[in-house]
Amino acid sequence: MACVSFPYEAPVSQTLFDRAAVVTPGGVNSPVRAFRAVGGTPRFMVSGSGPYLTDADGREYVDLVCSWGPMILGHSHPEVIAAVQEAVSRGTSFGTPGEGEVALAEEIVARVGPVEQVRLVSSGTEATMSAIRLARGFTGRAKVIKFAGCYHGHVDALLAAAGSGLATFALPDTPGVTGAQAGDTIVLPYNDLDAVRAAFQAHPGEIACVITEASPGNMGVVPPLPGFNQGLKDTCAANGALYISDEVMTGFRTSKAGWYGIDGVVPDLITFGKVMGGGFPAAAFGGRADVMAHLAPAGPVYQAGTLSGNPVATAAGLAQLRLLDDAAYEKVDAVSARIRSLVTEALTKEGVAHRLQNASNMFSVFFTENEVRDYEDAKAQESFRFTAFFHSLLAAGVYLPPSSFESWFVSTAHDEQAIQRIADALPAAARAAAEATA
Ligand code: PLP
Repeated sequence: MACVSFPYEAPVSQTLFDRAAVVTPGGVNSPVRAFRAVGGTPRFMVSGSGPYLTDADGREYVDLVCSWGPMILGHSHPEVIAAVQEAVSRGTSFGTPGEGEVALAEEIVARVGPVEQVRLVSSGTEATMSAIRLARGFTGRAKVIKFAGCYHGHVDALLAAAGSGLATFALPDTPGVTGAQAGDTIVLPYNDLDAVRAAFQAHPGEIACVITEASPGNMGVVPPLPGFNQGLKDTCAANGALYISDEVMTGFRTSKAGWYGIDGVVPDLITFGKVMGGGFPAAAFGGRADVMAHLAPAGPVYQAGTLSGNPVATAAGLAQLRLLDDAAYEKVDAVSARIRSLVTEALTKEGVAHRLQNASNMFSVFFTENEVRDYEDAKAQESFRFTAFFHSLLAAGVYLPPSSFESWFVSTAHDEQAIQRIADALPAAARAAAEATA
């Protein structure tokens, strides 16, 4: 970790963090929230409004995390809140079918052409786990290709790291995942179609599916090179495997129809989460009707969930999706472009080597002058500069993802005032990045 001072104390958050550490491992319910990559005290947030979050010490921040993607309309959007209040007034969970889940499924099917049928679940992890089970059940094959640096939730088989040499079996990437669970996973370098073709050649008739982030945002933002996704699709089709596009992050964020709306490559299955839940635990997977027909109770592949299609979550998600028209995406794209140019301007002025990469309105800064095409490139950046940059912005009331390997997210609610706050904070942050030492 870089030597960095934490210029602003957060005593109430620190007290809460100390309390949390007694009853929760590491004091958090999802590791990145603990600030381990940047050090310092994680901010415990108490409320959110539009582009702002307020922490337990009463400090306000311009939020550039947006709950890791879902809050594309900003916090506490009145129409989403009203839909939630209306739904909650009728009860919170019935464990039966309900109209809200039908309407949400119809909205997803209407927006994303290749999705003929969809199954609702409660998290992105469930969506990818279920999609892979379905792909295996449909093809009768065991092996799965994934890419280093792509994250698909904490599915055992996908918490795998590349073994030695291409097209070999993966190793568990965390204790608790067994060799057997990771052993049917093949981890390849991102943006490398030759490696994919070689893996199919090495394992004829054995590969059930390729799963990829539609445009990765979990190693920082690393878009697919032109033709990469189409090449995946074609290679899968030629080899009887399914192409699964993980749009948990990009879905309904990068365009009305997610990344599919941008590159037009037709997946066999697509996974969704984040934006479609309006800030509630809702996610989905869907795609070709003939594949989805293999899912229970229509078919033999088992999948279920006590809270799947929850009426409050589906009301929030539907309200949010219905507000996301062309004008909303134009607004988010414009906000993103403004902030990107402010960041580049500030870092350039201080002579800091950096690459600002974006996929539609998702973006991140890599502290390197080289293009980042895969995870190895991403890891080669000078992350210690990000640490100094992050803490300077945090002290000035701008909340970035607490890691240099994460996408930044903006919303329709980021107005002139919020953008000005970022602009005011950037020069000092760029200077801190320039002066940082490893
Ligand atoms: N897939 C992608 C591309 C993601 O970015 C994430 C989470 O960030 C997931 C899957 C897992 O979603 P969840 O955290 O809802 O389980």
